[in-house]
Amino acid sequence: MNFELLELREDRIRYLLSGVSAAFANGIRRACMSEVPILAIDEINLYDNTSVLFDEQIGLRIGEVPLVADELDLFSQPEDCQCGGTGCPGCRVDFMLSKEGPGMVYSEDIQFTDPGVRPAFDKIPLVILGEGEKLVMEGYATKRVGKEHSKWQAGTLCGYKNLPSITVSEACDGCGKCVEACPRDILVIEEGRAKATNILECSLCKLCVGACEAAAIDLKPIHDSFVVSIEGSGSVAAKDLVARAVDEIKMRALDLDSKLAELS
Ligand code: SF4
Ligand code: SF4
Ligand SMILES: [Zn+2]
Repeated sequence: MNFELLELREDRIRYLLSGVSAAFANGIRRACMSEVPILAIDEINLYDNTSVLFDEQIGLRIGEVPLVADELDLFSQPEDCQCGGTGCPGCRVDFMLSKEGPGMVYSEDIQFTDPGVRPAFDKIPLVILGEGEKLVMEGYATKRVGKEHSKWQAGTLCGYKNLPSITVSEACDGCGKCVEACPRDILVIEEGRAKATNILECSLCKLCVGACEAAAIDLKPIHDSFVVSIEGSGSVAAKDLVARAVDEIKMRALDLDSKLAELS
C-alpha cells in the first residue's frame, strides 16, 4: 500500500491511496463518517422560547452545532461509562443558553460548564430574536458516533474516486476538441497531440472520449488507486479524524481476531 498526501487543511485532507481494494478505501471513508465518537448536544430543557421557531426546530439546530473538546478522550460514551449511562461528568457536559432580543442567537451563546468544551465555530446563527423575545435553555452534550445520528458525524463530505489512466494514441491529430470538452482543464495540446496534465482532478466523466472523433483517447480507472477526500464537521481536525477512523477499524479487527481465537 502507498499513501501520498495531496492536501492538508484543518478541516480537509486529500490523499492518494494505491495498492488497496475499493472496500479498504471505502472502509476508512465510512469509519470517518459513522464510527469516530465526538460530542454533540443530546438533551435540552427549554424554559422559554418566544422566538419565531418551534421548540423542535430550535432543538434540531442546536443539536447540529459541531463541538470541540480539548480533551475529547477523557469523555466516555454513555454505555461505556462507569455510571452505566445514567449520566455523570465522565460522559456528559452541561450547558446553558440565555438570550433576549433584539439580536441573533449564535453558537457562541452556548456556554458549557467545562471550559475545555465549546462550539467549533462562534457565528453559526441559530435564531433571530425580535424585541423582547427570549430563548432560555439548558441541557447536556454526550459523546456518540455518527451512525446513531448525523449530529455525531465527525466526517461530513467524505468520498473517493479511482485514479484515472489517460493515454492518447497516435491517431490523435491535435484537433483540440477534447481540450474544449473537458470541464476540468485536464487536457492540453503539446507538439500536435493531446496530453493529460493533472489527472488527480479528472472526474472520469468521459466527455473527452465522446468529443474525440478519432477515438484516440483511452480512459480507464486504475482499480487499486484512489483519490480520497475527507472533510470534517469541525469537531476533530481532518488529519486526526482519519487517524481515529483507522484506530476504530483496528480495534474491531483485533476484537474479531480474539473472538476467533476463542473459537479455535
Ligand atoms: S474524463 Fe472528463 S475530466 Fe477527465 S479528462 Fe476527460 S473530460 Fe476531462
Ligand atoms: S479530440 Fe481526439 S484527435 Fe482531437 S486532440 Fe483530442 S485526442 Fe486528439
Ligand atoms: Zn457517566
